[in-house]
Amino acid sequence: MPVGLKEQMLVKGVAFHLESGLPPEARFLLEDFRLAVNNAIRVGLQTHTTSRNALIRLAYGDFRENHPKMYAQHLVSAFGVAAGVLKNYRRRVRMSSAHRVPYVKRLMMKAENQAYKLDRENGVIDLPIRAGCHVHLKLVLSRYHRKYLDDATLSLGSLTVLPDRVIVAFRKEAPKPYDPESALLLDTNERSLDGVFVQGNGTRIVKAEFPAVATIQQRHHDRRRRLQNKKSHDRRMATFLCRREGSREHRRIDYRMHQVANAVLKFAESQKSAVVLEDLKGIKFKRNKDLNRRLSLWPRRKLHQIIEYKAQWRGIPVMKVDPRYSSRKCPICGRIPDSRMGTEFVCECGWRLDRHINASINLLQTAISKGLEVAGGLRFDPGAFQHDVVMTLYDPARGARSEPNGTSCAIGVT
Ligand SMILES: [Zn+2]
Repeated sequence: MPVGLKEQMLVKGVAFHLESGLPPEARFLLEDFRLAVNNAIRVGLQTHTTSRNALIRLAYGDFRENHPKMYAQHLVSAFGVAAGVLKNYRRRVRMSSAHRVPYVKRLMMKAENQAYKLDRENGVIDLPIRAGCHVHLKLVLSRYHRKYLDDATLSLGSLTVLPDRVIVAFRKEAPKPYDPESALLLDTNERSLDGVFVQGNGTRIVKAEFPAVATIQQRHHDRRRRLQNKKSHDRRMATFLCRREGSREHRRIDYRMHQVANAVLKFAESQKSAVVLEDLKGIKFKRNKDLNRRLSLWPRRKLHQIIEYKAQWRGIPVMKVDPRYSSRKCPICGRIPDSRMGTEFVCECGWRLDRHINASINLLQTAISKGLEVAGGLRFDPGAFQHDVVMTLYDPARGARSEPNGTSCAIGVT
């Protein structure tokens, strides 16, 4: 779960399993750590403090007495975790959504990068428990993991230890995005990304489908509804089961979104494209509960998030443009036909095209008119627009991008 950090520092968390489980000493450390976090949360709540440094000033002395053996760095990091929990709590209180007093139940600990050592060659973590007592955690390494360990440009961030795995944060400075030579415009829909790829004078239709996502959402929604009926006598159980359904749903969708994003970015990188997406920020819903659920923006926002951070990590330029009217405007004459449309956009001037593809062409026009640096001088030329060939960036049936074949890979050559 990479997070953008100040100074354009990028962080990516990589999970490792341990070759022989967690040694008992480390398990005790996790328990102590959780205790320290919960104590710090209590102090924070009593004194209305949410900053790590203030917590340290207030409570470090007492803590040292209660946890005399704990490595001092770990204690400081426990304050950090507590501060994070408190900040979340305060935000929830402000939004006045349902909340209970925070308490960390999950067994975990976090060590800052100066509080542990990682032998990147052999994949062994040296974690100090207390003075004179260290444990060695042997990591299970795959090719995916080696990629991060061997990359010398990545520095180490914090280490999170969980009962069954550890998460190492790798950090690097955001690479400068390349100068785009083409553009990939994508309109994000419920079941697919639809758009155009513009290079030179040629424009082609591209598509990345993820039909499974809507199906998963529907299935989990039905299940939750059934659970709620079945457990209507026991709200606590109903909440618990629904929450579990929810996190399963999120995991399943997440996985598919990552695959779609990887396929799209692989293509963009190979063509030196700038990726242009619509800005989903301002979009609000109408007052129809059922429709709202069906069209839930969550997976689409998630997909954008994933595309953006992956692109940032790899130095692929991404632009977001205001999607207003993009699905209703004619890119040729600028009219906004007010008749309701089916799957096809039809304009009085004779222009007709798939509604979603049309939207992506409007995104390109907006990007150009806003002066965004979309591959200097690229523009949409209806004459060079190839309606007939659809390039598939991601094919869910194959689980990966189908390599462009003979007819569809001669991009830009007409
Ligand atoms: Zn028109």
